[in-house]
Amino acid sequence: MALYIVATPIGNLEDMTYRAVRVLSEVGGVVSEDTRRTGLLLKHYNIPKKEFISFNDHNAKRQTPKIIELLLEGKDIAFTSDAGTPGISDPGFYLIREAVANNIQIVPIPGAVAAINGLIGSGLPIDKFFFYGFLPKTSGKKLDALKLSNDFTVAYYESPHRIKKTLELLSKEMPEVNVCVARELTKKFEEFIRGKPEEILKVADKIKGEIVLILSSK
Ligand code: SAM
Repeated sequence: MALYIVATPIGNLEDMTYRAVRVLSEVGGVVSEDTRRTGLLLKHYNIPKKEFISFNDHNAKRQTPKIIELLLEGKDIAFTSDAGTPGISDPGFYLIREAVANNIQIVPIPGAVAAINGLIGSGLPIDKFFFYGFLPKTSGKKLDALKLSNDFTVAYYESPHRIKKTLELLSKEMPEVNVCVARELTKKFEEFIRGKPEEILKVADKIKGEIVLILSSK
């Protein structure tokens, strides 16, 4: 028995690995954040229908014992999230920890992570970096998080509805920081907007879609 943590595309369906398709075809069940969405993904790759187990932030604690039981009965289970790598700013950590505690083999199947794609395309130093996850919404906590970029290149997940406010905060408090807004990665309108906060603020109204914000003082 094994729990396969299967990464899925973050926008471009070509970014599914051969191994991910094979594992999803072979497992006995699929744990999924959005079963309808995963169903469509499986259909796209001609993967036969599977038993789906719903797993999200609201039902994680309730569903975990059922999934562990299936694994302990000897079933192989794949775990997918809506997009990218499960557990990375997605539900998953709780299930993975419980599986580890039950001596269940964990097999990560690598693939897309938005933060990594954004970092790679940013042109900012990435020999060392920090992944923050979603930026806090309140400006005090947000500023503390943004200031981590004094020491490292930092990748944040940010909402397109809040990016303008975040750029305003950066212009005021950290005008010299190097910024890259990586948006719609792997999709048709993929774009890397690089510059100082004030420069990017000028085009902030046009920043739409999914965003990784990358900051570096170097
Ligand atoms: N598990 C995912 C991963 O491996 O990257 C992250 C899931 S998190 C719930 C969703 C956030 O990731 C979005 O709000 C956005 O900040 C970022 N994101 C996901 N896909 C993206 C894309 N194609 N381009 C830019 N950012 C993306």
